[in-house]
Amino acid sequence: MSADPYDVVVIGGGVTGAGVARDAALRGLRVALVERGEAGGGTTAASTHLIHGGVRYLLYDRLTTHATCWDSGHIVRTAGDLLTRLPIVWPVYRGHSRGLETVETLLEEYDRFQPMKYGRPHLRLTPEATLKIVPGLKAEGLRGALVFDEWWVDAQALAARTLDSARRAGAEALVRVPAEAILRDGARVVGVRAGGRDLRAKVVVNAAGPWVDKVARLAGASLPLRLMKGTHLIWKDQKLVPVGLLVEAVDRGRYVFVVPSPLGTWVGPTDIPGPDDPDATRTTADEVDYLQRSVRLYFAKWPEKPDATIVGSRPILGQPGSEKLLSRDFEVFDHETRDGVPGLLTIGGGKMSDYRVMAEAAVDAACRKLGAETRGTTQDSTLDGKPVGPIPVWPRPPRGLKRFLRRHPYLREAHALAHLGAALGAHLARRAAGLCPASGEDEFRARYAAR
Ligand SMILES: Cc1cc2nc3c(=O)[nH]c(=O)nc-3n(C[C@H](O)[C@H](O)[C@H](O)COP(=O)(O)OP(=O)(O)OC[C@H]3O[C@@H](n4cnc5c(N)ncnc54)[C@H](O)[C@@H]3O)c2cc1C
Repeated sequence: MSADPYDVVVIGGGVTGAGVARDAALRGLRVALVERGEAGGGTTAASTHLIHGGVRYLLYDRLTTHATCWDSGHIVRTAGDLLTRLPIVWPVYRGHSRGLETVETLLEEYDRFQPMKYGRPHLRLTPEATLKIVPGLKAEGLRGALVFDEWWVDAQALAARTLDSARRAGAEALVRVPAEAILRDGARVVGVRAGGRDLRAKVVVNAAGPWVDKVARLAGASLPLRLMKGTHLIWKDQKLVPVGLLVEAVDRGRYVFVVPSPLGTWVGPTDIPGPDDPDATRTTADEVDYLQRSVRLYFAKWPEKPDATIVGSRPILGQPGSEKLLSRDFEVFDHETRDGVPGLLTIGGGKMSDYRVMAEAAVDAACRKLGAETRGTTQDSTLDGKPVGPIPVWPRPPRGLKRFLRRHPYLREAHALAHLGAALGAHLARRAAGLCPASGEDEFRARYAAR
């Protein structure tokens, strides 16, 4: 072992681990990171590539929508040129499980959080405008559409650029180097063995996404997750739609994104329980068929076979309740109090869209262990090191309430639905007063003419 230990060794170079390394290095800590594959090549690369608050969480986990929109604003400021504004059209047909008024109510609620991430207010479109904006979309039964916007991001580049930023701040990053063992001195974790080297550390941060339980087990600890796998179909080098779409899936229980991007057109994701071992996660023929049939409900002409598929496991925290109500909240776990293993922290759960604040929470916890109370500064400079301008102040969701509601799924859903119920009443009153007019194509084009 080297005699001079790192302050922090991070395991996992997805967007979260890269964020932890950057945050710690910017605070002046001695940091090393080990990633067994390519930076961002795990779950991060398999995501839908959206920096978003998650409209659907408004139905059962409102404070997650709030939290992710809040941190997305920081990501928009720091990762600027990796992000493209993506207008998303949500077409509503006769017989859909959610009608125009319900969908518009949902997006009116989303509008409350959109300014935190520089999102624009939603639009309601006439059927005619919808068909002009999305040529080839099925006309029969179309009642209109709602439009909102998210940020498309090159997710793997976000992780790689975050790691580059960490390196410039002094971190050492070892990619294609797996952590083979966690070094112990008695119960205490004292480092990581990786690539034939012993990296001694005062604190080890496990940021291995869906692999956190596997990594924690290397130290005799554990962190059970509720892994939910998600597949996308990919048509490479093809822009099959001019804007993003969110469409009701063939089983009417879920929605599926259709995302045009520089990586091609992506359709997905599915959201079904995956194996406990993320390495065993595979796309099945049923998933391909489900996504194909879902998109073909809306387009008479859609290419037969995708060029590729990609699958990942959502690293969702272990929690009670049905799959439909799983919270995307994150938490930093101290294995000293949890499993009697000092020196090991795990950052678990969360989304790419709040990776910066997740990293900050993990490094805050590491600093408390190191007895070095410092403040995170990742929001103050871009990934390429330029200062960020004035940062607007938005209220954060109450952390205590958020944690409490994570443990009580039905109360969490009731909390979300209470807000939506009140919003639906207000929406219907405005609609009755003629205050929710539908827009035409010109208004849509004007709104999205500029970034
Ligand atoms: C289908 C799907 C769609 C999603 N869409 C979105 C979205 O649009 N927006 C959003 O915000 N979030 C989305 N998410 C969630 C988001 O992708 C994840 O929350 C995020 O990418 C997790 O990043 P991570 O760094 O924690 O995990 P990962 O990206 O998985 O990184 C963990 C890393 O640890 C490494 N590792 C594992 N074991 C070891 C070891 N022993 N030694 C060294 N390295 C190791 C792995 O190789 C991996 O690179 C989606 C998730 C899925 C599955």
